[in-house]
Amino acid sequence: MEYMIETTDLTKEYKGKAVVKALDMKVPKGSVYGFLGPNGAGKSTTMKMLLSLIRPSKGCVKVDGRKLKEENRLEILRKTGSLIESPSYYGHLTGRENMEIVAGLKKVPKTQIQEILKIVRMENQQDKKTGQYSLGMKQRLGIAMALLGHPEILLLDEPTNGLDPAGIQEIRELICTLPEKYGMTVIVSSHLLSEIDQMATYAGIIDRGELIFQNSMENLHEHSQKSLMFHTLDDEKASELLKEKHYSFHMTGNKIEIPWMENGEVAWLVSELVHADIGILRIEEKQKNLEDIFLSLTGRSLSL
Ligand code: ADP
Ligand code: MG
Repeated sequence: MEYMIETTDLTKEYKGKAVVKALDMKVPKGSVYGFLGPNGAGKSTTMKMLLSLIRPSKGCVKVDGRKLKEENRLEILRKTGSLIESPSYYGHLTGRENMEIVAGLKKVPKTQIQEILKIVRMENQQDKKTGQYSLGMKQRLGIAMALLGHPEILLLDEPTNGLDPAGIQEIRELICTLPEKYGMTVIVSSHLLSEIDQMATYAGIIDRGELIFQNSMENLHEHSQKSLMFHTLDDEKASELLKEKHYSFHMTGNKIEIPWMENGEVAWLVSELVHADIGILRIEEKQKNLEDIFLSLTGRSLSL
């Protein structure tokens, strides 16, 4: 696989304490890389290092096969657009005027502005002063600025933070179309699994500064095996029988959770239970959701 961004041993310490620990991040070309982690996990710190906004304590960053160095930094970063933390604007200027300033700084022809404002659906609000923009409009303008110059790489740090559900949906749809339409590689961070699930093709999960998972979304979903929940009239007796038959299981609430098995085996196990005079009230199939996967990867819940 070809990687657009590759880090080796990327580490950031503050006052001797590592907040990003030896990250080997691999971002496939043309992917939407969902960078997931709870608040304080180290997402923003990592993204700032990818952009050379802060200096790593250790390790290096490769962009499109080239090591990021002082000498080539500007040239490489010219290919990158980013939105890190909340964007700030000149509130007394309109959206378009703010775009013109950034276009000037990026040396991008002004003709691109209209095209990009259209992509983020801001054409109708471009003549309004940004001081009067809603949070969603500000966020979209921030993405528009990041898109100026048609970067090959786009880094968006929690771009849906603070948006309403409709705004979130719009940004999500926009992000999903970028790789296909413009050949971009996108890194988007979030503390919400469901959001990464809906946007990303590849995922990196960071927890307390450590990358604890990195693979395709499909692979992440394969972690989510189904299980069976048994409701019985005598859990104690049922547990003993399961132990005897060497089943791995555990109690979840007042149900017994057993790893998923084929129909034939279910039928056999039910008859064993019934023969032992254990009444079965119900058997349910349970699909592990991504929250459960996070829990099984970290031993902690992601919900904040
Ligand atoms: P995330 O973006 O995942 O919420 P951050 O990268 O912002 O996490 O922060 C990771 C950790 O590093 C946090 O514990 C934060 O307090 C700490 N941190 C971030 N920036 C600094 C700094 N400039 N000085 C000291 N600690 C920092
Ligand atoms: Mg952050």
